[in-house]
Amino acid sequence: MTNALSTLLETVDVILADGATGTNLFNMGLQSGDAPELWNVDAPDKIRALYQGSVDAGSDLFLTNTFGGTSARLKLHDAQNRVTELNRIGAELGREVADKAGRPIVVAGSVGPTGEIMEPVGSLSHAEAVEMFHEQAEALKAGGADVLWLETISAPEEFRAAAEAFALADMPWCGTMSFDTAGRTMMGVTSSDLAMIVETLPNPPVAFGANCGTGASDILRTVLGFAAQGSERPLISKGNAGIPKYVDGHIHYDGTPELMGQYAVMARDAGATIIGGCCGTMPAHLRKMREALDSSQRGDRPTLDQITSALGPFTSASDGTGDEAAPERRTRRRRRA
Ligand SMILES: [Zn+2]
Repeated sequence: MTNALSTLLETVDVILADGATGTNLFNMGLQSGDAPELWNVDAPDKIRALYQGSVDAGSDLFLTNTFGGTSARLKLHDAQNRVTELNRIGAELGREVADKAGRPIVVAGSVGPTGEIMEPVGSLSHAEAVEMFHEQAEALKAGGADVLWLETISAPEEFRAAAEAFALADMPWCGTMSFDTAGRTMMGVTSSDLAMIVETLPNPPVAFGANCGTGASDILRTVLGFAAQGSERPLISKGNAGIPKYVDGHIHYDGTPELMGQYAVMARDAGATIIGGCCGTMPAHLRKMREALDSSQRGDRPTLDQITSALGPFTSASDGTGDEAAPERRTRRRRRA
């Protein structure tokens, strides 16, 4: 398959992706509860600055500001009729920044969860989910996204519905889930489950993996879980900059740029090919990640002990794959990445 991402994967050892969207936009004045996607139209210079921040820090790939761009999510802001406009412009701004970078930069059209629970647990039907994802996918394609980037998913049904929609849009894609519940997604999916799910899809992703979740240590344990399945597909690791803590009325991530540099190297050694950050990851972190990747040789797969001594303890005892660790399926709504 010829697309900008596959071409880049053939030419570089590791792709550095971007960092946080939410955290960066909050620093630019976005208020909690606002729809970031509206800024694609209302504050395009801030969105250009967001994208440019990753490119300047050394990222090879960045995600568009369209995470909440399905009609279900935009409906919370009475913007459900603006799916095409907001997603298209979010991708166009990305195209603009990427095309003047002077080196290959992949524009990945971010697609987050609908926020609805799918049948049979919830009321969103497969057909409705496919339609919503398809509408968003076509708009990102029209805006010039190189690939689509499904992220922060917890339910296998939703992952499959998005994959089907991306096939309808005839777009290559990547997909990540958030393993934030004792090593599993909120819907109980383990790393090995996801590795198997992607191989059952008629249009498998170019790359798959994990984003967000809890801390940097936990996501590396998840990456080791993917690698243990022997997948030939490139693996993605987009971990948070440390662990979220509630400080003075806002969420603070305690991971330093140095820690994220170590995380990036360990993610590569654990088997990830596309490495970035999620919540709390700022350009300063990305710069250290770029430096650390460029100045070190690929090493042996880290052990769990090496991970925790470098990056801190895991937030749960197991990675969720053992028999003792099966939680109930939960129905809490997904928070914004
Ligand atoms: Zn996140």
